[in-house]
Amino acid sequence: MPTFVYMTSCDGCGHCVDICPSDIMHIDSTYRRAVNIEPNFCWECYSCVKACPQNAIDVRGYADFAPLGHSVRVLREEAKGTVSWKIKFRNGEEKNFESPIRTTPWGSIKGPAEYDAPGAEEFKSEELAHEPDALNIEGGLPVLSADRLKQGII
Ligand code: SF4
Ligand code: SF4
Repeated sequence: MPTFVYMTSCDGCGHCVDICPSDIMHIDSTYRRAVNIEPNFCWECYSCVKACPQNAIDVRGYADFAPLGHSVRVLREEAKGTVSWKIKFRNGEEKNFESPIRTTPWGSIKGPAEYDAPGAEEFKSEELAHEPDALNIEGGLPVLSADRLKQGII
């Protein structure tokens, strides 16, 4: 479900613009409020929902599968460190649940530039950047050995 902005709640701070990986949160040049310019390209990651200090961003389903009358309300509470979701179905039934804004302390994730640049050998590795350290898997990624393959290695 893509996002949309309540323009009356938005103060134009731009946090959603900075965090959106799809670059679809823009500040309207006339009204100075955020707007999702291309809901079809929304990753539905909800980074903007969690980043908005004004709780000005909500989500809605596409009309083809989310019937009229439903609603999805999101409440970000930074002091509690939670995001609360209120899902209302067309028949009036509600589901409420809460999830942590993040599972690691604020500011504890290193940015890519804070890691050492990869050496020539690391470019030959099948592992992605910062693997396996960033995955917190002790002893590295599991490896499929030849004897565990039904047909062996061709
Ligand atoms: Fe961008 Fe993610 Fe928000 Fe969609 S949900 S507008 S992709 S930050
Ligand atoms: Fe508006 Fe929230 Fe985006 Fe800030 S983060 S520009 S208040 S929608």
